[in-house]
Amino acid sequence: MISIQDYLNSDIIDIVPLLSLALNKNHVQLITHYDYQPNNEEKTQLNQLIKQRQFGIPFAYLSGTKGFYHLDFKVTPSTLIPRPETELLIDIALGLFDKNQTCKVLDLGTGSGIIIITLGDKNPQWHLTATDSSINALDIAQQNAKTNINFQLGSWFKATPNQIFDLIISNPPYIKQSDPHLNDLSFEPQSALVSGKDGLDDIRTIINNAPQHLNKKGYILLEHGFDQQQEIIQLLSNNFFNIQKFKDYNQQDRALLAQIK
Ligand code: GLN
Repeated sequence: MISIQDYLNSDIIDIVPLLSLALNKNHVQLITHYDYQPNNEEKTQLNQLIKQRQFGIPFAYLSGTKGFYHLDFKVTPSTLIPRPETELLIDIALGLFDKNQTCKVLDLGTGSGIIIITLGDKNPQWHLTATDSSINALDIAQQNAKTNINFQLGSWFKATPNQIFDLIISNPPYIKQSDPHLNDLSFEPQSALVSGKDGLDDIRTIINNAPQHLNKKGYILLEHGFDQQQEIIQLLSNNFFNIQKFKDYNQQDRALLAQIK
């Protein structure tokens, strides 16, 4: 018979979270039940999860959830898996306005909804809109939402015709078509990751169209690839000023904030 301890001593990838998921026990409970022998049903479930993980399916798609900032979000293969780097956008956005200011915020390409939902949880009086071109992603974002958010289906600003905001925020696809790292991301929606030859197709669309959708002194806040900062500053410089650069916790260039001229 095989015990929790045997599994924990193995070198199976992600065995701790997989055991937690299959046995519905947290890490401490696993350690304090070292001798427990999973029953047949639990073993079947666990072995299936181990196989899927070894096949390359990200753990978040097996558990169906991923933590971001202070909340847990439902994720499916229709949505990008939230990355810790994106928490930077939340910190920046929260610092832009007074807590009781009623500003209008747009999250373009919301995916599972992490950005707009986190901001709404922190600032319930903000007016929030979020878009995605994937109806399946939008459905997940809607399930994740706790507060009132205006969800719109469509590609970038086509989803919000004639609407004006104080802050436009996005973690758009920004990976180059030819980037070899894409091989490791094959389970996530490619439309959420890849953006043309230089990875900037969607960022260009957003920057070029944002001015018609911003209030006076409105902000644009974008996540981007570690090597894209200079090109994006160039794109912003026509219509924006007060351009501020931000690094992620790995000291990589990761976000740009700018104000409309
Ligand atoms: N805004 C979502 C996130 O940051 C989705 C981003 C995307 O799909 N490119 O996870």
